[in-house]
Amino acid sequence: MSRCTIVPPHILERLAHAADADIAASAREALLDADRRLIGRRGHLAPDRVSAGRPRLPLSTIDGGPERLISDAHNATALPGTKVRGEGDPATDDVAATEAYDGLGDTWQLYAEVFERNSLDGRGLPLRATVHYGQDYDNAFWDGTQMVFGDGDGKVFGRFTASLDVIGHELAHGVTEHTAGLMYQGQPGALNESMSDVFGSLVKQRTLGQSAADADWLIGAELLIGELAGQALRSMKAPGTAYDNPLLGRDPQPAHMDDYVDTDEDHGGVHINSGIPNKAFYLVATTLGGSAWEAPGRIWYAVLTGPGISADCDFVTFAGLTVDEAISTYGADSPEAVAVRDAWAEVGVLGATQEPESDPDPRDGDAPTPPAPADVPAGTVVEVTRSGGLIGQTVRRAVALDELPRARAQEWRSVLGSRTLQAIDGRAQASAERTRPDSFCYGVTCSAPPTDVQIPEQHLPDHLRQLFDGTLREDPA
Ligand SMILES: [Zn+2]
Repeated sequence: MSRCTIVPPHILERLAHAADADIAASAREALLDADRRLIGRRGHLAPDRVSAGRPRLPLSTIDGGPERLISDAHNATALPGTKVRGEGDPATDDVAATEAYDGLGDTWQLYAEVFERNSLDGRGLPLRATVHYGQDYDNAFWDGTQMVFGDGDGKVFGRFTASLDVIGHELAHGVTEHTAGLMYQGQPGALNESMSDVFGSLVKQRTLGQSAADADWLIGAELLIGELAGQALRSMKAPGTAYDNPLLGRDPQPAHMDDYVDTDEDHGGVHINSGIPNKAFYLVATTLGGSAWEAPGRIWYAVLTGPGISADCDFVTFAGLTVDEAISTYGADSPEAVAVRDAWAEVGVLGATQEPESDPDPRDGDAPTPPAPADVPAGTVVEVTRSGGLIGQTVRRAVALDELPRARAQEWRSVLGSRTLQAIDGRAQASAERTRPDSFCYGVTCSAPPTDVQIPEQHLPDHLRQLFDGTLREDPA
């Protein structure tokens, strides 16, 4: 995770065999360089979780602005190169240096003004970037301490500072490294990549003043030049459609779990399967409308920087956390919570909650078709227990969701459907924290979806404890 290349290996591999010798050489150099860096930087920084559980910084304490330092590698590969512009210095006549300086500022502003975060680490980390790295270098990357931009080969790729979402993408890797610390492999790696696309796109949308409906939801559209102008590296709106040409091949990103790509390449397809969570974010943002950095961005940011996420977080767990966050911030029946739940269902990460999975297809004809209530699997009964406490009494109630008030039933469906409880149970069991004497332990069992958990109360968010207590108290309607 300490290193990300914006041009995925599968594209560089393809370019390395291009008929044009210059393009092929540039791509091969980028691949070789990536390999050398990977070997040299295998270890990754432990997440310091500086933001987790800390009171939010009042904006006044981060009024001072970013501290930027732009260097020029003069087409060599030694980092950081020579300083060409520090914070507050006048612009030079080098477009790449100016774009890097401005892009770092735009990125800093998103985190400071929307999320009240002071730079990547939450503590004002200086933002460093090097431009003109290497010869015709077809890449940009985050090396764990700074951003690095190539000039591109001039035929397929132009200079890499031209794309603001790419700058935001690379810096978001720094935020992830300092917070969730998502592993750069498999599903957590694809989530890591998706976070960078999400926050990179948000930097661009906010800087340009675009609503979710106005945004192009493309990553790196400004990088491709010449015949490929108009195509991009990725599309969050329609993963798999960003490019399709003889030079790069066809965009391999899936938009649904049915098409999840199992591969050993690219750290388990981190730049490929990120299409799935990318699409989920796009769906939430466009369903809610308005500015994507508001509710959608805040929900994603809260999960990325919150205490619930772990370095090995998979798609389902992440989805459940965003559902929880939307419910606790906006309410179980809020448009935000519904949009988040539906988005993850639409990309196949969470079971659909609007249509019961057990609902037989009427075209089948061989199964009975009992008209199930709109969004409750027939016969769903949940049993809640609260044990422990000073008195050591166990309180127990089994209830059919249909018997509960509508809002409460809907909250249960969301919680059960998102498999949130299993995720919390797993974290609680892995937690080094000792059980608190005399505290309660809540149990939830349910046959569909299969659920059987026992969770100490200190691991439960308030809204879940309220749900359990309310259910234990409630008389059937
Ligand atoms: Zn990346």
